[in-house]
Amino acid sequence: MKKLSDKVAVITGGGRGIGREIAFAFAREGASVAVLARTAEQVREVASEIESACGTKAMHGVCNVSQRESVEQAFASVIEHFGRVDILVNNAGIAESAPLLKTSDEMWQKIIGINLNGTFYATRAALPYMLERGWGRIINIASIAGKTGAPYITAYTASKHAVVGLTRSLALEVVAKGVTVNAICPGYVETEMAAHAIENITTKTGKTTEEARDILNRMSPQNRLLAPEEVAALAVLLASHEGRGINGQAINIDGGSVLS
Ligand code: NDP
Repeated sequence: MKKLSDKVAVITGGGRGIGREIAFAFAREGASVAVLARTAEQVREVASEIESACGTKAMHGVCNVSQRESVEQAFASVIEHFGRVDILVNNAGIAESAPLLKTSDEMWQKIIGINLNGTFYATRAALPYMLERGWGRIINIASIAGKTGAPYITAYTASKHAVVGLTRSLALEVVAKGVTVNAICPGYVETEMAAHAIENITTKTGKTTEEARDILNRMSPQNRLLAPEEVAALAVLLASHEGRGINGQAINIDGGSVLS
């Protein structure tokens, strides 16, 4: 028995990386999926690969989560297509680093706009459909930067701590209505975002790519980066019937680098 048969899931930032993997994992469990992001070719390709590989329904939408109108339009077309939203994965996100004194207004607003406001807009657009049916799952992809601090990433850390805060409060607000709200807090995951972090270290420090990768590896006691599939497997659990008792949690998946 598939775990997500008859469910409709929306995955923001589903065009690549962790979001793409979650979209595939949900589809393999029988969910119909809507894949949203800004890059049309990527979301189109993911939706079409899912339909041919998993035999479930998939749609794509071009959406900038930092813009309320864009999010509302995307959800209107999901409703037109599938008629409902049962599961929302707020995965769209960006990471940029700079010392606080070099963090421009523009960079701050961009990071908060996508990582935090995007989570708010998509959640506000999806929640009414969950409340209407008395069942829903909201899964926010935060980060271990939502639990702890590190130098040069104040904007990113602030955005992810805020996503964890939103998760905890909303979880209690909707618990009686059959909706759970949780966050996943990964350490470094093997995606384009991690590749940029490696490139950034090489540019700023003159270290080789291998040395830079080793720095990221050593941030985990397992001395490695995570695979996107590991994050997707946790998302499936949180979305499933078996995960119904997990609510308001911000679950680290990081090899044990953060113990809280
Ligand atoms: P990627 O850069 O590989 O993918 C990010 C996805 O988000 C893309 O599909 C991108 O598409 C989309 N996206 C970015 N900005 C927007 C926007 N404004 N509107 C809609 N979609 C957007 O990143 P990851 O897969 O690595 O990251 C996914 C999430 O996981 C992020 O929230 C990130 O913070 C978090 N995370 C990642 C870690 C890592 O090491 N990789 C560690 C911890 C957390 P497009 O650009 O086309 O819009």
